[in-house]
Amino acid sequence: MIQGFLLKYAEIGIKGKNRYKFENALCEQIRIKLSKIEGDFTVVREQGRIYVQADKDFDFDEVIETLQKVFGVCAISPVEVIEDKSWENLTKAAGDFIEKQYEDINFSFKVKSKRSDKHYQFTSPEVCVEMGAYLLKRFGGLSVDVHNPDVYIWVEIRDKAYIYSKVYQGIGGMPLGTAGKAMLLLSGGIDSPVAGYMISRRGVVLDAVYFHAPPYTSERAKEKVINLAKIISRYTGKIRLNIINFTDIQMYIYEKCPHEELTIIMRRYMMRIAEEIAINNECIGLITGESIGQVASQTMQSLMVTNEVCQLPVYRPLIAFDKQDIVRLAEKIGTFETSIQPYEDCCTIFVAKHPVTKPNAHVIRNSEKKIADNIDSMVKTALETAEVIEIDI
Ligand code: ATP
Ligand code: MG
Repeated sequence: MIQGFLLKYAEIGIKGKNRYKFENALCEQIRIKLSKIEGDFTVVREQGRIYVQADKDFDFDEVIETLQKVFGVCAISPVEVIEDKSWENLTKAAGDFIEKQYEDINFSFKVKSKRSDKHYQFTSPEVCVEMGAYLLKRFGGLSVDVHNPDVYIWVEIRDKAYIYSKVYQGIGGMPLGTAGKAMLLLSGGIDSPVAGYMISRRGVVLDAVYFHAPPYTSERAKEKVINLAKIISRYTGKIRLNIINFTDIQMYIYEKCPHEELTIIMRRYMMRIAEEIAINNECIGLITGESIGQVASQTMQSLMVTNEVCQLPVYRPLIAFDKQDIVRLAEKIGTFETSIQPYEDCCTIFVAKHPVTKPNAHVIRNSEKKIADNIDSMVKTALETAEVIEIDI
């Protein structure tokens, strides 16, 4: 059975004096994720990488899949740790490990070696040569190819010896909690869950807000958003999801303002409300799934007019993405199937046939005067009656 996993990370290696904070945050996130699955795991920080020791029964695939959802991990290798690193024992252990890792031992290979124990009987190049010779002799199906091998076999001689070969790709990024917290405007669409995932991948913790408009949007539409939040929380950790009842505000704008401006005005109120909740919850940015030119409300002019109501920075990681690239990412992270369930969206219900595509900020500000009487109290009520759901995997 596999004893443990060696995890490598990339970017946090270059953080100078803060490096240990990143490494500790990464270890902590690995512990949190592994605590949710079967097994008994010990996570230790070790000279530029992390070692996860696995005791008791665990499901190999489940461990790999779990580690592949930890931001900051860029490679995962099942590893054999050998305490008795005498040459005889080490070679035998390496051979046994190859047998465990590969069903069909019929491939070309190259041994790579690192040695921090400078008193060891062989230098790194000698380890490669001698280990290669041993393995060739033990397995008839092996051949050496130093330029383009099918398989690398790593032998690291430290205080203990480590042998590993297979590499499972991690998702990279920065460990959660090493940046700040941001408020994701999460709709039931394809884009916003992907946007939240992308920003969180840089170490940002997420809160979320969903604007619900019952009875125009159904309970199923709300369930869909909750499900999307659950899917992304497998990566991003806990999410505090704020559900805002937006019906009265939408109806009021619909009644008082020009219909072709409805979407843009509504979006300005979404941003204002999102910002208020963000500030009350120590979020230092907003996140949306907008992309230039995708719809009328996402032309550069519309984005400018929407943006002007916010003080906090608005992160729009998909701004330059084509839809098909966003779809590909949604499929990869597992949100696509849920996003395409056909429940109505509060933005689509009151949409005008010909919305403005190049809104003018003065005109929009003027139109907003028409709702000045009651809008503030309506926003206040919406904030006070928000439903908050803690989403965790
Ligand atoms: P998405 O696929 O993310 O729904 P979209 O292409 O449908 O995006 P819009 O409806 O214009 O585009 O929304 C743009 C962004 O505004 C969304 O990506 C999301 O961040 C936010 N948003 C839209 N509707 C809502 C909502 N009901 N609740 C919360 N945020 C929303
Ligand atoms: Mg949408």
